Parts: sequence; C-alpha cells; structure tokens
Amino acid sequence: MAILRIRTVPDPVLRRKSKPIRRVDDAVRTLARNMVETLHHALGVGLAAPQVGRLQRLIVLHLPDEDDPRVLVNPEITRREGERRVEEGCLSVPGYLGLITRAVKVRARAVNESGARIRLSAEELFAQALEHEVDHLDGILYLDHLKSHEDLHEIGDDDEAQHHHDYAAEIVDSSLMKNRGEKRFLIARPDSSGGGIGEIKDEVIVQVTPGEIDRFGR
Ligand SMILES: [Zn+2]
Repeated sequence: MAILRIRTVPDPVLRRKSKPIRRVDDAVRTLARNMVETLHHALGVGLAAPQVGRLQRLIVLHLPDEDDPRVLVNPEITRREGERRVEEGCLSVPGYLGLITRAVKVRARAVNESGARIRLSAEELFAQALEHEVDHLDGILYLDHLKSHEDLHEIGDDDEAQHHHDYAAEIVDSSLMKNRGEKRFLIARPDSSGGGIGEIKDEVIVQVTPGEIDRFGR
C-alpha cells in the first residue's frame, strides 16, 4: 500500500477526461487500495483517480457513517432528483469551500472491485460525493458549478484547514443569522477511528443574500 501524491489546481491532469477501465485486474485493485489509503490519510470522503494523476475512470468513497470504503469502476450517474445547496470542498482545491447546487438523490451504475456490475441509489452526502467524484473523471471541478465567485470561501491555508476537503468536513450545525445575512457552519472532521464525528475543527461564516435564506434552511 502507498500514499499517493494528490494533485492540486492548476495541475492540468485535473482538467482531462479519464478513460474507461476495460478490465478490473490486479493493477486496478492495487491502484484502488492505494487511493483508499491516500483518502484515509487525507481524511477525505472521496477521491478520483485523476486526483492522483491517473486518467482512469475509478473512484473511491468512504462515507463517515460506513464501515468500509467503496471502490467504483466506470461509475455513471443515471438519474438525478431534486436540488439542494451544499458546502463543498475538494482535496485538489486546498483552502477553499464553495456553495453549489447538487442533487438530493442520484442513481448510478458502476463495476465493483470484483468486476461485477452494480447499481447504486444515493442520497445526501453519498449522492454529493458521487456527483463530485464522477465530475472529476470528466475534468470537472466543483468550482465550475459556482454561480458566483462570492460563493467561494477561503478557509485558511494552515495545515489543519488543508484537510477539510472532499467532504472531510461534516457540517454538524448550521444556523442562520438572519439579521446579519450570514450563515454559520460548525465543521468537524470525521473521526478517523470509528467513522463518527470528531471534534469541531472550524467555523465558517457564509454571507447569504436575502433571496437565498429560505433555500438554506435545514
Ligand atoms: Zn474533489
């Protein structure tokens, strides 16, 4: 097993389209295992092969409430339902979180580590992570979904903040300070041992325009 170097913007590999994997062989499984180790090391929730410089349609996900990581080969989103505004970060875009629109539910198909075809139905964070990682395979970053540069927020460039990406950060509380037009997020890292929520690491204040306030309610 090995921890791979995570490519960050503006590395051009992040903007290229990945190729389908023809056969799930040991080389693919080794890459997947190394990506999972890299993901755990970075305290992330999802990682796509181009983020480690490999233009292959392979993603790994490890959701905070699941025991085991998922390896998905040639994942394709087949259906999206609903819309919601979410805070999103990316291991390849360190130091920032953006406010974008994602689906509430997605359906997808993929091939698993054993080469079997599978279908998935995902909601909430799982759906968001799937959309985010499948985007990477097409050279798309969440930055492309921002409607305005004002939806992008710097979260600091110290070492601690570097880890809050690809959904490493779980929003544990959010409250709207209506009169100030701000929304406050308390962000915690998933606990790397048990997959639960660890201590609160960060607080992010997001400016909200009046028209957006209703959509933020949670
Ligand atoms: Zn990403």
